[in-house]
Amino acid sequence: MKDQTPSQSQGSSPGERAWALFNVLKGKNLIPEGYIETLTDMFANKFDPANGAKLVARAWVDPEFKKRLLTNGTAACEEYGYTGPQGEYIVALEDTAEVKNVIVCSLCSCTNWPVLGLPPEWYKGFEFRARLVREGRTVLKELGTDLPSGTMVKVWDTTAETRYLVLPQRPEGTENLTQEQLEKLITKDVLIGVALPTSTPAR
Ligand code: FE
Repeated sequence: MKDQTPSQSQGSSPGERAWALFNVLKGKNLIPEGYIETLTDMFANKFDPANGAKLVARAWVDPEFKKRLLTNGTAACEEYGYTGPQGEYIVALEDTAEVKNVIVCSLCSCTNWPVLGLPPEWYKGFEFRARLVREGRTVLKELGTDLPSGTMVKVWDTTAETRYLVLPQRPEGTENLTQEQLEKLITKDVLIGVALPTSTPAR
């Protein structure tokens, strides 16, 4: 990162404020060597919904792994090396024919970074956070997930430490797909719970 003088950092945009903060911390020698580079690499290359897709596809084909994932999500994610900030305590939520799980952080924007990646813009929006906890079924319908009236929508509000991922039901018509093919059916929206996996690749 290149330095900026204070006079160049006094604007009010988030980027300018970040630079100002960076320069102050650097001036006080409070940024460890390689810290920024390590974090940047994590955000760019390691935190990816493809990680969550691997977990879900494995759980669909391996009952023993599914049991481990539902019993101790943190340990099951560690098997894949999916650890790090915002992933210290992971809980997997299993969808059933009766229950559809959805994740929100009504306070701010917390998500399970190592498994889901960074949150989408709409996830951080005030409207989604405020409305999902009050009218989850309606919000899901507006997002394209129209659930049968008999399905209960269960909204999980992220706490200070717990980070969730949704384990959706395996779609019908996917019996002949391999584990690798199943991974392609899982998107970030599916892992958050606002979308259902389809039987054809979504990505
Ligand atoms: Fe949050």
